[in-house]
Formats: sequence, C-alpha cells, structure tokens
Amino acid sequence: MALTDDFDLGALALGPGEGRRLSLDVRLAPFALGGQTYRGRDASQPVVLDVARLSGSGYSLRLRLSARMTGPCVRCLEEAAPELGVDAREVDQPGGGEELDSPYVHDDVLDLAGWTRDAVSLALPTQVVCRPECAGLCAVCGANLNQAGPEHRHERAPDRRWAKLSELRFD
Ligand SMILES: [Zn+2]
Ligand SMILES: [Zn+2]
Repeated sequence: MALTDDFDLGALALGPGEGRRLSLDVRLAPFALGGQTYRGRDASQPVVLDVARLSGSGYSLRLRLSARMTGPCVRCLEEAAPELGVDAREVDQPGGGEELDSPYVHDDVLDLAGWTRDAVSLALPTQVVCRPECAGLCAVCGANLNQAGPEHRHERAPDRRWAKLSELRFD
C-alpha cells in the first residue's frame, strides 16, 4: 500500500472554487504519553482529505479520520484500544496573514503525515483507559481489580500510631 507523507496539492490542478475528496493512507508514528507508548493498530492510517481551491489563491483543507490506537491502560496496564475521531481544518492563503498561513502547507505541498500526527495527538485523552469503569490495580498487592472482583480486600494493617497509644497507661 502506498503511504502518503507529503501530498502535492498543486498536482490536483484545481481551478478556483474547485474541490476534490481523496482517500489516502498515512504513516502514523507512535506517541509517547505519560511515560507510555501508544501506536496505531495498523501499519497505515486511512484518512479522508477534502481539498478546495480558494478563489484567488490558496486552499481550504479538511482532514477526517478514525484512529485505531493501542497501548497500556493507565489504571490496570492491560491493553487499551482507544478509537479517536478527528475532524480538522486548515486554510492556507498566501498573503492572507498569519491566521491564513497553515504550518502544514509549503509551496502547494501538504505535510499530511505531520498534520495527521498533530491532529491525533490533540484527540488523545490525557489518560488512556481500557474502559471508563476500569477498576485499576489493588494499591496493596497489585492485583488487577477487574479480574479480582469487588470482594478483593486485605486485612487492614494495624496503624502504628494507635499501637503506641495503647501502650500508654492512664493512672
Ligand atoms: Zn484498565
Ligand atoms: Zn490486593
């Protein structure tokens, strides 16, 4: 499968006001988040790119994708498989000022891999969990509480401060 890292917008030869919708495959580099690594479940990430040529010059761009990621759940460390929906837009209009100067477009070439990567990283939750109700690990023995069940408990260790108090004598 051919991966598109850079996409040549100029090669579409769109006239002013014309547009095209393209289905492309992009390489998605792994993400480091909170000391863990999250990567795409597949070698390539399918994306839908809408390109519209502005009247005058420049482009209006829309990027849509559903990223299938994999990596550890921050609570139980089992594999989590978040799916992230991305719908991002960019406008690049030469001479249109800073707001209309997309960092991903240089000389009619779109840095599709870079845009995809940034858009997915913005969509990543700050904490990836295997499921919202994940019970995590037991703080005492490290058992996976999803498997150990709600009845998993430990005898409370006696609190040393109370042990000291009980040695005091009141005459
Ligand atoms: Zn979990
Ligand atoms: Zn335990």
